[in-house]
Amino acid sequence: MTGCAAERIQKSLRRRFPHVDLVVGAKSIQEFPDRIAPLLSKKSGDPGAAVRFNWFAESEETFGDGQLRSEGKPLNLGEEGKTGFVTIMRGCNYTCSYCIVPFVRGREAYRPVDQILSEVQSKVRSGNTEVMLLGQTVNSYWQKFGSNGNAGKIFDFADLLLEVHKIEGLETIRFMSPHPHYMTDKLITTLSQCKKISPQIHLPVQSGSNAILKKMNRNYTREEYLEIANKLSQAIPKLQLSTDFIVGFPGETESDFEQTLSLAGQFPFGMAYCFKYSPRAGTAASLLQDDVPQELKEERLSKILRQLEQPCCDD
Ligand code: SF4
Repeated sequence: MTGCAAERIQKSLRRRFPHVDLVVGAKSIQEFPDRIAPLLSKKSGDPGAAVRFNWFAESEETFGDGQLRSEGKPLNLGEEGKTGFVTIMRGCNYTCSYCIVPFVRGREAYRPVDQILSEVQSKVRSGNTEVMLLGQTVNSYWQKFGSNGNAGKIFDFADLLLEVHKIEGLETIRFMSPHPHYMTDKLITTLSQCKKISPQIHLPVQSGSNAILKKMNRNYTREEYLEIANKLSQAIPKLQLSTDFIVGFPGETESDFEQTLSLAGQFPFGMAYCFKYSPRAGTAASLLQDDVPQELKEERLSKILRQLEQPCCDD
């Protein structure tokens, strides 16, 4: 089992699910190859399994602060297909009350621009025509210019996109997941000007109720989100905006939920991931009473899915 929550609750996971062989969290991801290779051999009874896995693992290198990058040998495992995945930052400086990520992954750490660009170039050389730039709040990326006439100035996510956009052979740029707070006018203009940037943009909203957004600690209001969505829509004619909704957050009243429903109907989302709230141990929200009954959460989930008229995710 992998992931932030898995790392956080690994002791109880092992007690409850004794058949789980290995729990590796995001912070320990660099240990993953070393830990899984012998396990694969042992479980499969095939000593070659570890060797084959290590071949894959050797194409990953750690850099600086223990983050992962893939350079040199391409990670052609089939899943990537035409898309190369490039992590540009790790961690999160936000404290959304339902989310375990900041506790497990720590504060934001950004990769140097030259490393990102050389990894994208490497992906393109190895056959990827599309790149997905990854980060928990990918658009909060920034670096300080160190030299030239720009010393001391900030190089932000929009600047990074402009540099990635120049890479020859690269046809499409995607990124995930942006946070509404960092969807600045400068970034929206850049998105509209760079033809390689995919118009499919995912911008999580989570709730349409300002009271719930505040409890979630999302740092924007319903009105601000809609303003950003409308700006994106005006700037990018073929925009397909997708989003996330959580229903049944602690204290969510019928009126709060109606506001989420109305937001879902107010903007033509291309797609949405919808979840019923469930507490994550260690988060601020887990200290709140999970007071929306399960049946009501399910009813609200069905309603929002009907509103969006699409199949979405159950938690
Ligand atoms: S911005 Fe995303 S990763 Fe960060 S705390 Fe909020 S939900 Fe979690």
